[in-house]
Amino acid sequence: MKRAATAIIAALVLAMPVGAETVLVTADRMLDVLSGRIVEQPAILVTDGRVVSVGRQGALAAPAEAIRIDLPGHTLVPGLIDLHTHVTSDPRISGFGFLDYTDSFWTVIGVPNAKAMLDAGFTTIREIGAYNYADVGLKQAIEGGYIPGPRIVPATWYIGATGGHCDDTFLPPSYKATTHGVADGADAVRAKVRELRKYGAEVIKVCATGGVFSRNTEPGQQQMTSAELQAVAEEAHMWGLKVAAHAHGADGIKAAIKAGIDTIEHASFIDDEGLRLAKDRGAVLVMDIFNSEYTQSEGPKNGVLPESLRKDLETAQVQRDGFRKAHAMGVKIAFGSDAGIAPHAQTPKQFAWMIRYGMSPLEAIQAATSVAAAALGREKDVGAIAPGRFADMVAFAGNPLDDPRLLEHARVVIKGGKVVNDRR
Ligand SMILES: [Zn+2]
Repeated sequence: MKRAATAIIAALVLAMPVGAETVLVTADRMLDVLSGRIVEQPAILVTDGRVVSVGRQGALAAPAEAIRIDLPGHTLVPGLIDLHTHVTSDPRISGFGFLDYTDSFWTVIGVPNAKAMLDAGFTTIREIGAYNYADVGLKQAIEGGYIPGPRIVPATWYIGATGGHCDDTFLPPSYKATTHGVADGADAVRAKVRELRKYGAEVIKVCATGGVFSRNTEPGQQQMTSAELQAVAEEAHMWGLKVAAHAHGADGIKAAIKAGIDTIEHASFIDDEGLRLAKDRGAVLVMDIFNSEYTQSEGPKNGVLPESLRKDLETAQVQRDGFRKAHAMGVKIAFGSDAGIAPHAQTPKQFAWMIRYGMSPLEAIQAATSVAAAALGREKDVGAIAPGRFADMVAFAGNPLDDPRLLEHARVVIKGGKVVNDRR
């Protein structure tokens, strides 16, 4: 067996391109999220940022020149994925406080916030809603090695109705403020999908209902018609993009699922019919069930409007109860935090809430790895420590299946086979 493994590795080494960087990662344990099992004494061979093979220490031969990352006492989990982030937001600046800052400020703060996500163990984020294509710029800077950060799947501007959750509603009419993603009518939303994709969107975000932090909108209120939602889904899918719908209210959630939208964000007031629809159509729920803790305690100090504090409270417990019900029914749920509503570094705190509301620790980790990768359509790249995928992994000082609070303390973060954060 050992000889066979050695022969396979020898063949792999011969097949490696000249100058390829090879890394061998070892630890006490590794969580295989695809089988749901712990692998004891794993050894992971990485070439040019991707996993070549996963075996046991001693049974897996590595080329002599391999760079070693040995993590005794640690458990490896695949790099975490957050499907709902806003790295170009700061939770300490809310309500009318936005108006103090120039447009490029938000791009600049994306730099430390992206690093905070990476340091917390998130090696992939879906940034859904960023002004001025800031998320595309951050992605390019991260990929070019200018700044550290996770892999970014950018949505760029969110698409929404005039006066809806994703429009600018903070200024009087003489300012004629309209968010760039505003589009009304099926043809206009189709044109918007094409425009955003042209400039870097890899997923499309629509605002199907009102929201918590916008002014003069209600979360329960549907704000895009079925025809508009269908037009977005059809157009985005034709171009090979998935669609995420911000949807709190039961009617907007159902309209979005019926339109064929892939992920439902928030899903606060989802009803039984909506849960059945989600299950039947394979829609994925992305429910941010932690951040209300932060908003309710720190929001008043941060300038959160009284109406937003009220709406946050009205959507908090009902969303957590909906999460429990959705999980019990077997509806797909992926990890999404709405980071930026709460501080980015606090994002892993959501795991404890997902477990409190019904998930096992394994299911909560799968929601942020294999399930999230499938929701992105990126199973070949991320979401598991497996051959062919990027060598993205997080090491924890113990077994998070036994002690899930460990998930809040990433010790070592590895992205593409390189250590990007080391807190040992
Ligand atoms: Zn959001």
